[in-house]
Amino acid sequence: MDNPLIHPDRLFPPDPATRTVARRLYEAVRDLPIVSPHGHTDPRWYALNEPFPDPATLFVVPDHYVFRMLYSRGVPLEELGIPRKDGGPVETDPRAIWRRFAAHWHLFRGTPTRLWLDHAFATLFGIDEPLSPASADRLYDTIAAALERPEYRPRALFERFGIEVIATTESPLYDLKWHRAIRESGWGGRVITAYRPDPVVDPDFPGFAENLARFGEIAGEDTRSWPGYLAAHRKRRAYFKSFGATSSDHGHPSAATADLSPHEAEALFRRIAGGDASAADAELFRAQMLTEMARMSLDDGLVLQIHPGSFRNHNEHIFGRFGRDMGADIPTRTDYVRALKPLLDAFGNERDLTVILFTLDESTYARELAPLAGHYPALRLGPPWWFFDSPEGMRRFRELATETAGFYNTVGFNDDTRAFPSIPARHDVARRVDCAYLAELVVTHRLGEDEAAEVAHDLAYRLAKEAYKL
Ligand SMILES: [Zn+2]
Repeated sequence: MDNPLIHPDRLFPPDPATRTVARRLYEAVRDLPIVSPHGHTDPRWYALNEPFPDPATLFVVPDHYVFRMLYSRGVPLEELGIPRKDGGPVETDPRAIWRRFAAHWHLFRGTPTRLWLDHAFATLFGIDEPLSPASADRLYDTIAAALERPEYRPRALFERFGIEVIATTESPLYDLKWHRAIRESGWGGRVITAYRPDPVVDPDFPGFAENLARFGEIAGEDTRSWPGYLAAHRKRRAYFKSFGATSSDHGHPSAATADLSPHEAEALFRRIAGGDASAADAELFRAQMLTEMARMSLDDGLVLQIHPGSFRNHNEHIFGRFGRDMGADIPTRTDYVRALKPLLDAFGNERDLTVILFTLDESTYARELAPLAGHYPALRLGPPWWFFDSPEGMRRFRELATETAGFYNTVGFNDDTRAFPSIPARHDVARRVDCAYLAELVVTHRLGEDEAAEVAHDLAYRLAKEAYKL
């Protein structure tokens, strides 16, 4: 009997003829290995291979999609066990956290979180009963008992999920000791890093001045000088590459780029490093650094990912009490056409450069992003990101971008997650939605089914490997 939590036809088209094609396309890609070229899982899990402690620590505490929704309906983050910056008291009983989560499970109706969690409950733990206040303890006990078994340790799950390669994301200030430990352990799982220099590129990043000094110490360069600062990036990028990195990633508030003369760039850097930069200087510096990173990418081959347009830490109160990444990041309007022009004037025609653009502003798909990626050889479009990593978000992306950019200016799927058990579910959703979209092209006679099958395979597997050089 089918498990009601994961109907075999979920996310497929309602029309029976289209659904039949979608089923066939999906059947051929369902079990392909997972390529996860961008994400935020903790490399420590794979290095130490310790059991995940309990269901709340696995599913609730680290997942900002989960706790932002509960917070929005009046549950204080303290009651979900989110650590406070001042070390003040928060809930420490995982079962109490889980019960609160279960009491609010209805909030997730119609959201991708519901799909991801039901998928994990069903496929990982064999659960076929919906979470509810009445079932909360039963699900808790089932999951908690499983987590004690060796086959639920991080490495075993990595293998069970069929992960061929996964990228984590690290700051240049980290030493990659967990990646080193993974390598030295002799385990065969492929866990690579990605270069995320925001803490030393964004003058508005907390602790920027100290970060800059530490960056110099770590790299053995004088990061008070512009040439020394750039040299430090080159060295750290090379170090990250030695731990498998094939990409850098940049989470800037806007997509602004700049291409200043060396003299102007040096003068700007002096103001930034001297600590008396204006807000405009800070924006210009981030903009210049995207172009500098593209220049370095031409030398060292790292793929450049730009994740712009998030207004970070929008809720002052939550930021003060709990810090960053607490579910209070809100998308803003993003302009790509003018913002990217300086970088594209410099490097947009380079065939050996790959710049992957993401957006939190869906209004740009058809107007800006697809036309840009459908022209400039250096540009590709990243998959729907964050709030749009969802069935509707994926469908809108294909509908708005494909006619201008095609499929081959896109890069497959990123799960972009910290929530380890959700990885198979997220890839499964992407595969289903893409097959549903392709099935529609088949039944409207725009694509032969053999071609659609090839595209489905490319979107599920090959494009991510190719775009990220994995
Ligand atoms: Zn990310």
